[in-house]
Amino acid sequence: MGRITLDKVTKSFGDIEVIPPLDLTIDEGEFVVFVGPSGCGKSTLLRLIAGLEDVSSGQIRIDRQDATHLPPAKRGLAMVFQSYALYPHMSVRKNIAFPLKMAGMDKAEQDKRVNYAAEVLNLSDYIDRKPGQLSGGQRQRVAIGRAIVREPAAFLFDEPLSNLDAALRVNMRLEISELHAKLKTTMVYVTHDQVEAMTMADKIVVLQAGRIEQVGSPLELYRAPRNRFVAGFIGSPK
Ligand code: ADP
Ligand code: MG
Repeated sequence: MGRITLDKVTKSFGDIEVIPPLDLTIDEGEFVVFVGPSGCGKSTLLRLIAGLEDVSSGQIRIDRQDATHLPPAKRGLAMVFQSYALYPHMSVRKNIAFPLKMAGMDKAEQDKRVNYAAEVLNLSDYIDRKPGQLSGGQRQRVAIGRAIVREPAAFLFDEPLSNLDAALRVNMRLEISELHAKLKTTMVYVTHDQVEAMTMADKIVVLQAGRIEQVGSPLELYRAPRNRFVAGFIGSPK
């Protein structure tokens, strides 16, 4: 579960092609990071995978299914939004359970999943608090909990740490890496931060103007950047 394949995917807004034909395979259980400067198409690519945008052409496969024209809810993926997407008037438990309640899941199964998510995220002690009574890091974990309970084939993150301060960002980076180690679920993570990419990824996809400049492990990109752009981004000399 969690293998995602993009086959000649393109995306245009009006006359402007922001993603020229792009091929990419994300393997089951991989932690893949899309990195590149602002405006290079990272969010668009993630939104195409999520189904929040329609491709202009090409095909997206998720596991054995052609997902190209499936609505987001049918793709079995969970987009993790920033923590400000939490409901302030609901407890942590209710915030995390929200997508399950919407899906009409029975209460016992909801409780089981919420308790499991709270446990892996170390939120069990805060389950009855409201978001306003939590730290920034705890709120971010609640946002992740809301994705975990859906038991997705993959998690999609779009710069989830960008409103956190520097110290908290480092902590959350470690926590998300640890979560990946525990769940072993595919994660696709968008950032413009090279350090996040280098420390979190199994595989880095370096993007520039909607094109893939290079795909490889952090070590591969560091040792053998294909061009100056990649070298400049990863921080090794070339
Ligand atoms: P990134 O996430 O890497 O900063 P985006 O994927 O948000 O980049 O944007 C890539 C390009 O597509 C940018 O030039 C942006 O202006 C353009 N773009 C993104 N969304 C839209 C949209 N809904 N309508 C028109 N242009 C868009
Ligand atoms: Mg973006």
